[in-house]
Amino acid sequence: MTASSEQTGRKALVGLGRAELERELAALGEKPFRARQLWHWIYNQGVTDFARMTTLAKPLREKLAEHFDVGRPAVSREQLSTDGTRKWLLRFDDGNEAEAVYIPEDERGAVCISSQVGCTLTCRFCHTGTQLLVRNLTAAEIVGQFMVARDAYGEWPSPMDGGRLISNIVLMGMGEPLFNYDNVAAALKILMDNEGIAVSKRRITLSTSGVVPMIERCGRELGVNLAISLHAVTDEVRDRLMPINKKFPLAELMRACREYPGLSNARRITFEYVMLKGINDSPADARALIRLIKGIPAKFNLIPFNPWPGVEFECSAQADIKRFSDILFDAGYSAPIRQPRGRDILAACGQLKSDSERVRCSRLKDRLAAGIPDEHPVA
Ligand code: SAH
Ligand code: SF4
Repeated sequence: MTASSEQTGRKALVGLGRAELERELAALGEKPFRARQLWHWIYNQGVTDFARMTTLAKPLREKLAEHFDVGRPAVSREQLSTDGTRKWLLRFDDGNEAEAVYIPEDERGAVCISSQVGCTLTCRFCHTGTQLLVRNLTAAEIVGQFMVARDAYGEWPSPMDGGRLISNIVLMGMGEPLFNYDNVAAALKILMDNEGIAVSKRRITLSTSGVVPMIERCGRELGVNLAISLHAVTDEVRDRLMPINKKFPLAELMRACREYPGLSNARRITFEYVMLKGINDSPADARALIRLIKGIPAKFNLIPFNPWPGVEFECSAQADIKRFSDILFDAGYSAPIRQPRGRDILAACGQLKSDSERVRCSRLKDRLAAGIPDEHPVA
């Protein structure tokens, strides 16, 4: 593992876009094409040691090593599930941590990436939403998560055929990506760049709880697939489950979905729907769901609720989930039931939460016991 740039005092190059890399090299008196070569070594070849960048002259390699680092976030823990799902707890320069998960699927698989440490939203069914401390991840930290996964599977240089084991990226980890739009956008542009990591926008899905004002921009500027954490068909239920609905209610969210740039039958919006017993899982809910999304090229992803300690909800019965899925299917929609992955290592949807926060939570419990009010941030 490379020492962090904070420890070495050298500037980190991972996370810089093309223009920024050019500026850094210009400051050393180097021409723009050198930045292009460096880009290739960092993002296409995955090289972390300047000495191996053999298309660059030795004096330049030495100069670069003096000023810069090509590192990765530190892996503070790695866990492997019995089903092959792999989870990394990553520690960043300031000691904060976030999780990234690799989910294998036959011959390919997706890396599930976090966009924030914790989340300012407080969806009632989500473990991440109980974290106290929240900060945005930088572009470097977001790209770094993917690079750690590539390192682990030895998939450098970047496969140009669309991927081997790691073929897809889902922004479905900790945090709300559209609350950290600038850094997420910078990171995705790096991840999609054809001369670098080169993951196609068609293989990237961004999931949002429904930050309506950012949805159009996300489609126009990034063109990635959109997933919406819907989870309810009425404002009444959704307000209760997801406080963000009070700010951006269903009608506004549906309008933003209808207007998502690039939407077509070949590029549908995925509606994620977590199955909560007795809350949102009746046949009437399924029928109301079909009416709600009418006219939007859509598919569904039914997520059996993943429990975590202290949560108030239960997962719907298997038969109820199946019936719900059948109603959507009969109406002409793809509505697979997502197989829970990595539950044994708390890597499944909504179970992510970093250790630093568990320490804080126990501190919170002490505060509550001492009668000091809850300091949970509310969006
Ligand atoms: N913050 C973004 C990205 C997280 S994606 C968002 O909410 O869309 C993770 C998905 O898992 C979301 O659809 C989320 O609603 C869902 N989820 C959260 N907690 C869950 C739980 N306990 N069980 C199953 N799915 C959950
Ligand atoms: Fe945040 Fe998404 Fe969890 Fe809601 S479901 S608390 S938006 S991470």
